[in-house]
Amino acid sequence: VTNEDFQLALLEVKSAFGADQDSFESMVLNGIINWSPAVQSILTEGLLHAKQVKNSARTPLVSVLLEGPVGSGKTALAVKMALQAQEAGFPFVRLVSAEKLVGMTEAAKSSAIAKAFDDSYKSPLSVIIIDEIERLLDYAPIGPRFSNSVLQTLLVLAKRLPPTGRKLLIIATTSHANVVNSLGLEDAFDVRLTVPNLNKMDQVRTVLKEIDAFTEQEWRDYDKYTRTLPFFSTANPHIWIGIKKLLMLIEMAAQDESSKVVKFLSSLQDACGQMDTLGDE
Ligand code: ATP
Ligand code: MG
Repeated sequence: VTNEDFQLALLEVKSAFGADQDSFESMVLNGIINWSPAVQSILTEGLLHAKQVKNSARTPLVSVLLEGPVGSGKTALAVKMALQAQEAGFPFVRLVSAEKLVGMTEAAKSSAIAKAFDDSYKSPLSVIIIDEIERLLDYAPIGPRFSNSVLQTLLVLAKRLPPTGRKLLIIATTSHANVVNSLGLEDAFDVRLTVPNLNKMDQVRTVLKEIDAFTEQEWRDYDKYTRTLPFFSTANPHIWIGIKKLLMLIEMAAQDESSKVVKFLSSLQDACGQMDTLGDE
């Protein structure tokens, strides 16, 4: 290996990373709001495993699975973890997602995933995000159907140790932990972290405060309504909403200047009510 080869490999690694940087930042567009201590502990644990990969000779491969309901913030947290790892000295970060592989044949998907791993082995320290495992597998509950070749590829790659001197942190996400388990992927991950939905009005309030959703007058209205309407009383256990949906509801209500607070609260009640009737989702 000449110095030129090395420079070339370095360039390749950099450009592979650079191409993803923009999309990373758009995926944490709304930042990470600390609405519960659980959020910080997920990120802290992620950083801990990045440091483990970097510093321990015994664990050159660590895989973390973020599991949680649809819209609970899994992708944003996975990307944030990868960016944290990047700051801690991981030069290569790559995202594998269903969106990027859309329209490909199963074989092409499998080789695109394999290529992400091969590329990562060029860098001493790498992070690969595997977003929405069930979608990568084209999982459909009816049948049930899924891509067996993509599954086999993931099973092999998630467990294969990187070449000597190379280290890899895998961060995967899923909204269907049960699917991951039933497909035999449950042993593929060293660590599983649960990303929760919001389940208390205090947490909703923290988010509203954090993004400065209301004026002073609107806050007075908000406090009045939430104190008097039974649905929002602290004793009510029906608050259940993902951060993604919540931010969407806040944004939609904001379009209605004259009745922002009422609009927000009624859509929040609807969203939680729907979840309720859907039952075990
Ligand atoms: P899906 O199930 O549809 O894939 P998801 O669980 O991956 O959704 P994201 O796409 O990560 O959810 O959406 C979460 C959004 O909420 C992002 O825009 C992110 O910036 C924002 N956000 C704010 N605070 C947090 C937080 N504490 N955790 C995660 N995301 C947050
Ligand atoms: Mg996602």
